[in-house]
Amino acid sequence: MPILVSSDKCTACEACVSGCPFGAMQVVSGTAAAGDGCTLCGACVDVCPVGAIELQVERKAAGTSAGDYRDVWVFAEQRGGRAAGVVLELLGEGRKLADQLGEKLCAVLFGDKVEQTARELLAFGADTVYLFEDPSLANYQDDLYASAMTELVRAEKPGIILLGATSIGRSLGPRVATRLGTGLTADCTGLAIDPEKKNLLQTRPAFGGNIMATIVCPNHRPQMATVRPKVMARAKRDDSRHGEIVRKALPKGVDLRTRVLEVVDELSETANIAEADVIVSGGRGMGDPKNFSLLEKLAKVLGGAVGASRAAVDAGWYPYSHQVGQTGKTVNPKIYFACGISGAVQHLVGMQSSEIIIAINENPEAPIFKVATYGIVGDVLEVVPALTEAFRRVRG
Ligand SMILES: Cc1cc2nc3c(=O)[nH]c(=O)nc-3n(C[C@H](O)[C@H](O)[C@H](O)COP(=O)(O)OP(=O)(O)OC[C@H]3O[C@@H](n4cnc5c(N)ncnc54)[C@H](O)[C@@H]3O)c2cc1C
Repeated sequence: MPILVSSDKCTACEACVSGCPFGAMQVVSGTAAAGDGCTLCGACVDVCPVGAIELQVERKAAGTSAGDYRDVWVFAEQRGGRAAGVVLELLGEGRKLADQLGEKLCAVLFGDKVEQTARELLAFGADTVYLFEDPSLANYQDDLYASAMTELVRAEKPGIILLGATSIGRSLGPRVATRLGTGLTADCTGLAIDPEKKNLLQTRPAFGGNIMATIVCPNHRPQMATVRPKVMARAKRDDSRHGEIVRKALPKGVDLRTRVLEVVDELSETANIAEADVIVSGGRGMGDPKNFSLLEKLAKVLGGAVGASRAAVDAGWYPYSHQVGQTGKTVNPKIYFACGISGAVQHLVGMQSSEIIIAINENPEAPIFKVATYGIVGDVLEVVPALTEAFRRVRG
């Protein structure tokens, strides 16, 4: 059992029983003991007033001090050879972290015929690009990318790895972290370096967005984080920058459990919500799926994208890829229209950091008005076409 309790020291005070977040500690025959629900989180070790509890976990990065791990890495997610927008944001933020630590900023790029993309990553601030180039890497593949990344990390020992909190980054990050036995903080909105201990301070909303939690990974390396797109400023391009491109070979004999047969682009007249500066979202208050065409018209006039609440998606009115909120996408546009959306907390966590929120709802008491910059009390079916017409006139 990796939780060891010294019966000599234990006073059966039950501090660990109340301090265990999983209710797994109990006192048996006068000595504390961990039960089945134990997750090895170490909370009991911290709360024990007499130092009777020890956590005997194999530190997978042990034997190597944090000092052996250096450099800040950015996973350079690409589609069709084009780096995702969040990669440029991570290079901007990663540059600051690397400069503070006095270390290098490196990008890891997988793809087919992507040398030009690698050069662009240098222009956007990377000192080194680790490049895996192979036809099998043209599209993201969990097993192949995760195996190659894990092997590279074991060989090069980066201190920090940043990935975009995109569907690809959210799939790759945990696979690599699990294989390495290190921690991963998901969906960060802020990163900084602890000036004393040089650990990465990873900040993200918690408890439905009601508090901001800063998470540290002090005992394991590398420190891994996925970062929400559109939160951090993009790096500036400087084509006079120089750096090195280090080519790497794929590991042999990777067991590929899945294969990408075909990539089908979703056809849409409007932009992708993760990238859009303007999002026009609709909820159950739109009343009927055909009324989403009103939102599409407004989005088109403003060069924006259409979003949806879960109620609208669950009703089959709009595709899941447009869902905003806790179980959908987190968005951060300049302007967010909430049309016929009540403002449930699960929706708010996905959109409340938008710069301007315009809520249209017939109920003046709807919670959405509490976070709205501008509120319009009225029928969406009248207000939305009137706004479309007004914007069309203004924009010519
Ligand atoms: C674990 C979990 C995860 C969830 N994840 C998400 C998520 O990712 N995203 C999400 O959105 N929700 C999510 N939900 C669901 C969430 O709790 C709400 O149920 C949902 O957001 C409600 O959607 P809505 O605002 O469209 O519908 P409703 O709450 O029914 O609100 C409809 C609104 O439209 C207004 N209205 C009606 N007719 C008109 C009209 N003609 N003109 C103007 N206004 C009108 C009403 O006044 C009302 O305020 C989640 C819930 C759970 C439990």
